[in-house]
Amino acid sequence: MRFCAGITRSGTRCTHTVRGNDSYCHLHDPNRAEERRRTASKAGRSKPSRVLLDLRSRLLELSEQVLDGEVEGKRAAIVGQLYNVAIRAVEVQRKVHETEELEARIEALEREDAQGQATAGSYKHWG
Ligand SMILES: [Zn+2]
Repeated sequence: MRFCAGITRSGTRCTHTVRGNDSYCHLHDPNRAEERRRTASKAGRSKPSRVLLDLRSRLLELSEQVLDGEVEGKRAAIVGQLYNVAIRAVEVQRKVHETEELEARIEALEREDAQGQATAGSYKHWG
C-alpha cells in the first residue's frame, strides 16, 4: 500500500492511499487541479443562482399576470421594485461570499508561508 505524495493544507503529508502507478490521490493529482478549481467555484455560485432562477420565474409570472390584466400595472411596478431589491441583495451576498473565499485563500497561503519559514528555521537549527 502506497500513500499520496501530496501535502495537505495543514502542511502534513497526505494520508490517502494511491492505486496503480499514481503518485497522488484524487485531491492532490496535479492533472486534476483545474477540475477541482472548477468544482469549487461552481459550488460557490450554486446557492445565489438558485435564488436568481426563482426570482426570474416569479418576474416572468408577474409579467404574464400584468399582460393578462390580473395584476394592476401600479402594483406590478411596486412588486418589480421589491424584486429589484432582492436581486441586489443576492448580488451583495455573492460579493460577500467571494470576499470571504478570497480571505480564506489568503489565510491559507499565509499559513503555508509561515510553516515554510518555520521549517526553514528548523533546518537552519539542525544544519
Ligand atoms: Zn493526497
